[in-house]
Amino acid sequence: MTGAGEQLASSDAYARSIVARVRGIEAGDPTLVILDRTVFYPGGGGQPADRGTLLRAADGRTWTVASARKVGGEIGHELEPTDGDLPAEGDEVQVDIDWARRHMLMRTHTALHALCGVVWRDYGAQVTGGNMEPGSGRMDFEFERMSGDLVDEIESKVNLEIATARDVRVNVLPRDEAFAIPDLIRTKINLLPPGIETVRTIEIVGLDLQADGGTHVANTREVGRMRVTGYESKGRINKRIRIAIDEA
Ligand SMILES: [Zn+2]
Repeated sequence: MTGAGEQLASSDAYARSIVARVRGIEAGDPTLVILDRTVFYPGGGGQPADRGTLLRAADGRTWTVASARKVGGEIGHELEPTDGDLPAEGDEVQVDIDWARRHMLMRTHTALHALCGVVWRDYGAQVTGGNMEPGSGRMDFEFERMSGDLVDEIESKVNLEIATARDVRVNVLPRDEAFAIPDLIRTKINLLPPGIETVRTIEIVGLDLQADGGTHVANTREVGRMRVTGYESKGRINKRIRIAIDEA
């Protein structure tokens, strides 16, 4: 194999299906399949990997992909255990992700960015980490004066920003350019490995800008309504906010 396969999730979050060729297979527990192109997100930055299927064009045989992960520069598709045959190198397969689950992750991920943006803009609190599942997530902040009243206020403000229908843009910037943006420096950009030449950014126009590898919706209106479901103290300074996204 020469060069990594095409990884569409980073350039087009809405790509949910593609035809690809098997470039490599590593039988095991789990069996890993490498493709020449894929729409799977391999997980990272608090966003879990996609699930989905591979369907072989020649005979309609289908494999369930339980998860995906980075393998070197490639994306490895982890097959659910099977008694039957495995895909072979050179096979043409249709690659589908579980779109309902992924789209919910995109809405959740975007809501978390809106939350970060509001908390930074209005309270000057920095985010220190986060995690999500489809429809729910949490963010940790250095936020000494957080309280129940404040959390209600934050929920209203975030929903107002979401309803403002702000565009969400993906950009890939040269490293030097990215490091010159003050908004990016407050996040984890300074933790990026020195060898990285470009920085992928997610911008909620007018609200938030972060270095990020995940998938997001194209406009905040697609998030729908977000609820703060809880908050807790992780110490004097560190506070955690939990959110959920309404289904509809
Ligand atoms: Zn993110």
